[in-house]
This record gives sequence, C-alpha cells and structure tokens, in this order.
Amino acid sequence: MYADIILPVPLNQLFTYMVPDTLLSTAVPGARAYVPFGKGRRLTGIIVRTHNVKPTAHTVKEILGILDEQGPAVLPSQLTLMEWMASYCMCPPGEVMKAALPSGLRPDSSANDKLYKPRVEIFVKPGTNLPVQTPLDLSDLLGKTAVKQKEVLSRYLELSGYNDNPYTPAPVSKKALTDGGKSSAAIRALLDNGLIEFYELEIGRLPQFSGHIQEPPQLSPAQQGAIDAIRQSFRSKNVCLLHGVTSSGKTEIYIHLIKECISKGRQVLYLLPEIALTTQIMHRLQKVFGDDMCVYHSRCSDSIRVEIWNRLTGPNPYKLILGARSAVMLPMQNLGLVIVDEEHEPSFKQEDPSPRYQGRNTAIMLASICGAKTLLGSATPALESYSNAVSGKYGLVTLTERFRGMKLPEIEIVDTADLRRRKYMKGIFSPQLTDSIREALQSGRQAILFHNRRGYAGTVECPDCGWVQKCDCCDVSLTFHKSSDIASCHYCGHKYRVPLTCPSCGGRALRGRGFGTERIEEEVSATFPAARVARLDLDSAKEGYDSIINDFQEGRTDILIGTQMVSKGLDFDNVSVVGILQADSIMSYPDFRATERAFQLMAQVAGRAGRKDTTGKVIIQTRQPDAPVLDMIRRNDYRGFYNNQMEERQAFRYPPYTRLLTVTAKGTDMQTVERAATAVAGHLADTFGPQNVLGPDAPPVSRVQYMHIRRIIVKTALEAAPVQVRSQINEAVSKAASENMISGVTLSFDADPQ
Ligand code: ADP
Ligand code: ZN
Ligand code: ZN
Repeated sequence: MYADIILPVPLNQLFTYMVPDTLLSTAVPGARAYVPFGKGRRLTGIIVRTHNVKPTAHTVKEILGILDEQGPAVLPSQLTLMEWMASYCMCPPGEVMKAALPSGLRPDSSANDKLYKPRVEIFVKPGTNLPVQTPLDLSDLLGKTAVKQKEVLSRYLELSGYNDNPYTPAPVSKKALTDGGKSSAAIRALLDNGLIEFYELEIGRLPQFSGHIQEPPQLSPAQQGAIDAIRQSFRSKNVCLLHGVTSSGKTEIYIHLIKECISKGRQVLYLLPEIALTTQIMHRLQKVFGDDMCVYHSRCSDSIRVEIWNRLTGPNPYKLILGARSAVMLPMQNLGLVIVDEEHEPSFKQEDPSPRYQGRNTAIMLASICGAKTLLGSATPALESYSNAVSGKYGLVTLTERFRGMKLPEIEIVDTADLRRRKYMKGIFSPQLTDSIREALQSGRQAILFHNRRGYAGTVECPDCGWVQKCDCCDVSLTFHKSSDIASCHYCGHKYRVPLTCPSCGGRALRGRGFGTERIEEEVSATFPAARVARLDLDSAKEGYDSIINDFQEGRTDILIGTQMVSKGLDFDNVSVVGILQADSIMSYPDFRATERAFQLMAQVAGRAGRKDTTGKVIIQTRQPDAPVLDMIRRNDYRGFYNNQMEERQAFRYPPYTRLLTVTAKGTDMQTVERAATAVAGHLADTFGPQNVLGPDAPPVSRVQYMHIRRIIVKTALEAAPVQVRSQINEAVSKAASENMISGVTLSFDADPQ
C-alpha cells in the first residue's frame, strides 16, 4: 500500500511513500507520519489518502512511523479543506498544514523536543504503610514528637476525605500540602515512612470558568423577527447575511442561535476579525456557555493550541469555539453553525505569510464541507456579501433599529481646511470636537477618537530642502515615535535614530509632518489635563489590549484614542462622542476599495457612540466635506452606498463583478524582477486577453526589506472555474520559466486580494 502525504516543504505537491506492513492499521488518512526526506532528513507530515498505485518515476521510500496510534489527529473534513485552500490560494499544501497544525503537533526532522508535552503536577496518595482504617489515630501512628508530620498528614486526610472514604481518597496536589515550602521536610519524612506516595497527574493549561451560568436575555420583538427569518432562510440556503445596524443586538441573536445549535448536539464556530475583540465577546458568551467553549487565536501559546486541538478530536469536544480566522482550520467533529461577525472586515484576509486565505470565505467552504450553515453578520456588509444576498445566493435578514430604540448617533461633518483658513483651528482638534468632548466629560460621559495612523508624526522632514527620512531596506518614509524617540519603518519594523541635522542640506530644524495617535494623546492631555486618557493601537499591545479595553469599559479612563482596533464591534455603554480626526487619510487609499473601506470604517467607528441611555454624537473632520461618501455615512444610507459603488465596480469591471488574482514578483535585483514580471505578464495576456491583465506595476511601496516588488493583476469572469484559472496561470508561469526568464525571482500568488 502507498500513502500520499503532505510534507512541510515549499513544493506544490503531495509525496508518495510505501506503507510497511507493521503500519497498515495506523497509516490512515489524517494520521501524522514521519518519513525520510532528502539526505538524512526526517519530516513529519499528514497522510491525505492511501492507495495501491505504485509511483513510476522514482524509488519509493517507506514511512518510518506513525505518531497517531489512537486515531488520526486530522479529520477528513480538514483534509478536504486543506486541499481546497492549497488549490484556491495557489500555495504548497505544506504551507497550509503549517498554518493549521500547532507546532507541538508537527515535530521537525530528528528531535521530538518540539513535541507537545502535557503539563503534569505531583499529587499525593496513601502509602503502603498507611493503615486502611477510620478514624486514624495519628499519635499512635507517628508518636508524640513528630508534630509537623502529624499536621501535614492530618491535612492530607482532610483534603482527600480519607476518613470518610479510605479506599478511594480524592487526589490532593503536593502543592496543597507544602505550605510554601515550610512543610517540605515533613512531607519527605512521610514519604520515607511509606505513609504517603507521590504520583503524576496530567492537568490542562486551559482556564476553567468559575462564574455561574445564565440564561441569555430575552430577545426584543425586532430581534425575534430577525432570528425567525434567519431560521427560515436556513431551510433553503446555506449562508445567511444578517445586516443589522450597530448595536441592534446581533450578538444576542448569535447567542440564541448558538444555544439552539448546541442543544441539537452540534458545534458552533464563531469567528471574529480581531484578537483584541475576543475578550469582550468571550465574557458575554461565557456567562451562557461556561466551560463548553474555548478561545483560539494565533496568540494562544502553542501548548494551549495543542490542548484545544486534542480536546476537539477527543470524545468530549468543545461545543463552541470563539476564534480569529485561523480557527477555521481546527478539527470540528460535528459542526452545525459558523458565525462570522463583522464579516466585512479586511482583517479576515491573511496577507502574509502564505496561505493568503480569506477567513470568511474559507469558513463558508468549511461549513459546506461539514454540512453546516453560515451566518454572516455586519452593520456594513462587504459589497461581495451583500450582492450575494441581493442575488438570492445568500439569505438576507435586516435589522434597522438599535436595541431599546436608541437613536443612531448624529453625525456632523467639519471642514478643517475652512477652519484653518479662518484661523479657528490650530492643532488637531476643531472647536466643534473640543466642545463636544468637554461637554461629554462634564456630564460624566466618555469619548473615542479615531485616527488611522499610529506613532507620533507621519514623517520626519527637513523644512528647508524637503528631505524625508526613509527606511534603508524599504521604499517608504519612517514614522516618528516620540515616546521611544525613534523613527520606525511600519513595513519591516526597522528602527532608526532621527538625525540632529538634515543629512542633505545640514539644516538644523528637522520636524515631524502629519500626526499619529501618539501625538493626539499628547494634545488631548494638554487640552483636557484632568481627563484620563488611553491609547489602543499596535504599539500599546505590550500593555495588553484587555486592560485598556476593560479600563475604558468600567469608566477608569475617559478618552480612548485608537486606530482601526476601536472600530471593530466593541460594545461600550457610556460613549457619547466619537471623533474621526482625518477622514481624508481614510478616503485616499490608492485602491478601488477606498470608498467601501471609508464607508465601513467610519460607519463602524460612529457606531461605538450612543449605545446605551445616551444619544451619541460623531464629528468627522475633513478637508473634503463634499465627498459623497461622507453624506452617505451621515444619512446611514447603506443602500445608497451599495448602489453607487456597484455601478462603479461594474463600469470598471472590478469585484464583485469579476475576480482578481495578483501575481507578485520579488527579488533583490530590480531589473531581473522587472524582466520576469514582464515575461509572466506577457504569457498571462496571451491566455486571458490583454484587457484582463494589468501591469506589471510597482505597488505604492515597491521595495520592502531590500526586495523589489512588481505586481500583475489578473481579472477573470465570475463564471470562470477557479481550478481552471489557476492551472492557466501556472501554465503561463511555466512558459516564462522555460524561457529562463524567472530565475532569481520569487513569484507568489494572492487570490481575491484585499
Ligand atoms: P451589535 O452586535 O448589533 O452591535 P450588541 O449585541 O452588542 O449589538 O448589543 C448592543 C447592546 O445592547 C449590548 O450591550 C447588549 O447586551 C444589549 N442588548 C441587545 N439585545 C438585548 C436584549 N434582547 N436584552 C438585553 N440586552 C440586549
Ligand atoms: Zn534639508
Ligand atoms: Zn523598512
């Protein structure tokens, strides 16, 4: 028999090995196998299928061993999903496997040291010299003098319930008896006397829920209507889009659906776009689902990931998994429902490293493999999802009112160019925003300030000659961080000192241009010295998102300044003002999705205001007050926005009317990269038609970490089968390769780029 195996190597293929007779019963699809590879290497991979077709091309080696004796670590549904991902994302199956399996489950080459080790603790049980009788007379047993030993033994007897039940005493951990080390000698003596014995017990690393379980709140009539409509839609469709305004109670609807699904004995996967969000939602879910649930994302330690994985493949799997996009690759034995919350969020897409998958779309695929339903939820659905709903491919359920009849916030658009011209505005804040924040603070309310750039200043510049400090390895200007007094590259992470004088003209007054969240923090503190201010962005990750979010939720801070992270589904009760400081920087992305992003981002940030007992106010500062998208946001006109954007997308043949796939060429030598990209683009144009191949172009940041980048975009019709498109692209690349045009260049692919 032979087995086709996924191995962790960057090659687009499976590898075939012979199954020795001794492994016939364990070498099954999904089992982890270790095999010889190349010269003296040993790799662990996953068996995808077994068969008896002898490979002709080469001599076949044998599988050395199987790691899963008790049944495969990877489920059939996962194998199907992994193969689909590798094909759709055009990446080696080994890269999908690496992304899916915690590293503790895939030991490399020789050593087993990276293998997951269960956490064990030392426990105490009765020794052979401990009489089985109750009650025990300790003075009789230990004499009059051994006071400490008697103390420890009597504590053990009490904790283990020995006197009631000497035959099956409860496990007692050694830790519970040591009294911070003071009793160590006595314990030793008891052990030597054979009165107690040690043994090891496996304990999990996952925290246990200690609160009490509650019923979810009763749904309002509007929510009840929505949940009925969702159930109805699931009768005929596999995917349903819940379009509910911010704070309409979508999360409460999810909770009712989850409960229903679990009560039918099936599992639920709940995906969120952002790790920073998981804690708040976790607390809401835990009150209802307790220890039936777990949280999984890329920042969980590898051991925790292994424990979750093992529990999910075991006899008593979690019922509810809350996670970021990588949770779609977990083993689900009996998946009934997938919820994708904030489904419009671009962060569902993994950019780097490969596999560059879209978490939402992958979740829909997983659900269909498992025979489960998918619910997408958003206040600002992705055009792609909404158009699928409008066309009838997905169900569509709409919730237009906020819970408790709260009004959507009033949105005011403030023209900062005009204010500056008339000298009403000097710093970052317009008088309107300053007044609103002051009012909020005076009435004990909170404010959120949104800006999409972290750091202090946008760039470091010489006012005399225009010199801009740039990264040595990337074609991008640096961002100044005042707190650490460095300029950093947001592409490669490199940090630089800011020179004292201009290296180009010798001028002395280098200055920061533009502003980031750090500078806003400084200005807020200067304007409102009494306010307690916090910042939520990538740089504040070290202090921990949880405490920042918690402090704000519980009123220990008054003003929260943040980047996109504050826009994603956070639920705060007491926010009455939201300020968007520079809408222009949001509206000016050089991308066909700029307007969609701007609408979603600003509508979502605005939605953080006025969620409970207070009407919210949102102030959008901009130099282009007449931008049509701002008016749509002001009127909360999703439909108007949708129609307008769809017209544009149709006219320029962009998604959702077509599909895009980017081919990226990277290399250290610019000419070589350009030559390769041009050659590949030529063959692609022959296949797909020149009108469907854009580029090669240099992207806005065309050099990162010394690598030059050129990009080609391939547009295909919706009807074109993805499998065929991919094989045509591979053919075009092979042609360029056979002409010797792409050596020295790495090509990578990105399906449905964001
Ligand atoms: P969304 O997810 O649509 O933004 P949430 O589910 O976060 O909205 O609801 C907004 C707020 O209203 C939350 O604090 C939530 O607990 C509360 N809420 C929503 N529906 C109900 C309900 N039926 N009963 C009690 N509280 C509710
Ligand atoms: Zn200068
Ligand atoms: Zn850099």
